[in-house]
Amino acid sequence: MTVYLVGAGPGDPGLLTLRGAEVLSRAEVVVHDRLADASLLDLAPPAAVRIDVGKAPGGPVRQDDITDVLVARGLTGAAVVRLKGGDPFVFGRGGEEALALAAAGVPFEIVPGVTSAVAVPAYAGVPVTHRGMSASFTVVTGHTRLAVEADVNWEALAQVGGTVVVLMGVAHRDLISRRLMDGGMPPSTPAVAVQWGTRPEQHTVRTTLAGLADAPIAPPATMVIGAVAGLDLAWYANRPLLGRRVVVTRAPGQASQLSTRLRDLGARPVEVPAIALAPPSDGGAALAAAVGALGDDAYDWAVFTSANAVHAVFELVRDARSFGRASVAAIGPGTADALAARGVVADLVPARSIAESLLEAFPDPPAPGSRVLLPRAKIAREVLPDGLRGAGWDLDVVEAYQTVPATPDPALLDAAASADAICFTSASTVTNYLAAAGASRLPPVVASIGPVTTAAATAAGVAVTVEAAEHTIAGLVDALSGALAPSG
Ligand code: SAH
Repeated sequence: MTVYLVGAGPGDPGLLTLRGAEVLSRAEVVVHDRLADASLLDLAPPAAVRIDVGKAPGGPVRQDDITDVLVARGLTGAAVVRLKGGDPFVFGRGGEEALALAAAGVPFEIVPGVTSAVAVPAYAGVPVTHRGMSASFTVVTGHTRLAVEADVNWEALAQVGGTVVVLMGVAHRDLISRRLMDGGMPPSTPAVAVQWGTRPEQHTVRTTLAGLADAPIAPPATMVIGAVAGLDLAWYANRPLLGRRVVVTRAPGQASQLSTRLRDLGARPVEVPAIALAPPSDGGAALAAAVGALGDDAYDWAVFTSANAVHAVFELVRDARSFGRASVAAIGPGTADALAARGVVADLVPARSIAESLLEAFPDPPAPGSRVLLPRAKIAREVLPDGLRGAGWDLDVVEAYQTVPATPDPALLDAAASADAICFTSASTVTNYLAAAGASRLPPVVASIGPVTTAAATAAGVAVTVEAAEHTIAGLVDALSGALAPSG
């Protein structure tokens, strides 16, 4: 019913606003530019229609055609998100799109975005204003020769005394710098150009106004001219995994957390779906029966060894009350978080996220015939069931889901083969990834979340470079950072 003109920010997916994420999460149609990060599109429901107007054979789609698409989709009454780089109204032609929607009587909303004019310098450690140095900043376009020659009064700008931020100006930087100097800006004025700002490929060139014309700068870049460009509060470029490409083998439910942590450290995750989730082989009948019994107080404990099992059980219950009197155990913090998200605080989370540790911490049965429910994947290790039975528990192991091998796109596997490292989060991701990619096409560094995963890799003839000390996603990322950190 509404067309949302949403600013996607300059590249780092974390710079999308909360409002932007919210409207995306209920979009029926997403009309997007060539986006810096495809993960933003994953925020839209899987069923949403995605229309790429950023690239087309023979060049970008014409603005009139984009506007026509927005109006036509808007008139159908669908929730349409028009996702645009940076802020929609900063050289984004969002004004034209809003005018066309208004003329056609289509309701619209503007969701401002984080503009590259401010965020890209910030990621390069350059504040666009600074007390005692620059009391203003002017954002100008250097897009067309005509704009540079006629639309911007560069000589006047040279007299303002503040920061000049130039977008789309790489091609005409010779003319721009000459006119600023003609206007009286000193040739020694610091200048900085940042290409692919806020993205792992971010590259900064530091020069002066006089040096700008010949500096090696390629688009897309944001240029900052003024005293502030001499500041170098670098932080983004200093992160330990900057630009490293790390394959995330995407066990469902784990990939996003791992990718987010890797991104926080500067890495570029390459997500390869090695595994897909499927319903239990009996269609879920056994799980439904067990969950029914759980609500009837048949169990003393329900034990969860994965977030996937938590999700499968909660699909069948009305709310947390259906756990009856059972206590609840979670194998690790990720599983405990999945429970907590549903309002269940785990009574037991072992110190180490493995079956052996859970067994150690698990209480003895209070009476003969005390029962434990273990909903889990079709194929899993027998350590936990054997141990619980051995301790005297009456155990029901119930299939809650199965993992099936996914068939990753060959192009994705090629990209993965040339990455710097690969992370394995479970034995089944190892097996399935190797089945799809082959053991000879692994990146040089192989990181494993724990001993079971490592054993699966070793059995398949793959040498694990580093194993997490703490068997969690955080532990895995720590181990990987250690292995990938520049030596010395
Ligand atoms: N509406 C956008 C700007 C669109 S004009 C915004 O508010 O950010 C496109 C120009 O923005 C590019 O030519 C470049 O100058 C700048 N730009 C966009 N993303 C950038 C990035 N990641 N790094 C450097 N410059 C960027």
